[in-house]
Amino acid sequence: SSTAKAQKTYQIGTDVTYPPFEFANKDNQYVGIDIDILKAIAKAENFKVEIKPVGFNAAVQSLQSGQLDGIMAGMAITDERKVKFDFSKPYYKTGFVMAVAKDSSIKSLEQLRGKRVALKTGTAAAEYALSLKDKYGFSTVTFDDSDNMYNDVVTGNSVACFEDDPVMQYAIKTGTKLKIVTKPARGGYYGFAVAKGKNQELLQKFNAGLAKIKQNGEYAKIKARYLSTKT
Ligand code: GLN
Repeated sequence: SSTAKAQKTYQIGTDVTYPPFEFANKDNQYVGIDIDILKAIAKAENFKVEIKPVGFNAAVQSLQSGQLDGIMAGMAITDERKVKFDFSKPYYKTGFVMAVAKDSSIKSLEQLRGKRVALKTGTAAAEYALSLKDKYGFSTVTFDDSDNMYNDVVTGNSVACFEDDPVMQYAIKTGTKLKIVTKPARGGYYGFAVAKGKNQELLQKFNAGLAKIKQNGEYAKIKARYLSTKT
């Protein structure tokens, strides 16, 4: 008789460019904190994952329509999202920051009046910026991925963008010509998401695996792999 039960394979949606959480390496393999955490959890809990790098907003839409089993994409746990999705235990802390071109004199929200701001469709940072739009009198333009949003600011089409603090910090550290000018706002946490009431077995496995890799030191090792300042 067979020794092991057949491993179940889950379809997991992710972003295309969201380093250090998910990005393609030189060999065009998806890597990053999220990808490594997910793989370590899958190994610990004896399931398989198929990574679908469809982009953040597309992943959210596909999870809702049942084409994906879960999302691992630096996705913030928010009250609005909890209406449609069930989240794992939080696994990473975040907050929103505003970034501007390296040589920009803009330092505050007040200086955005009459100017254009670049946002990434469907993100919590975009929702945050949209909530400030009327008060501070700026217009917005949206992009599907972070790289194109940053570029719009670097080239001067927009004066600022809103992004998650750890992601913006990493982009700047790795050469994106922007600077952060605000303190992280509305702190929150990333979580793994499944559709509301669906894939509860997967969610439980994720939480169990997360506890294991935190306990055995693997989670810390993964973080260090991408965030270590050693060269
Ligand atoms: N962290 C942001 C959110 O939850 C964006 C995620 C992403 O762009 N991959 O909306």
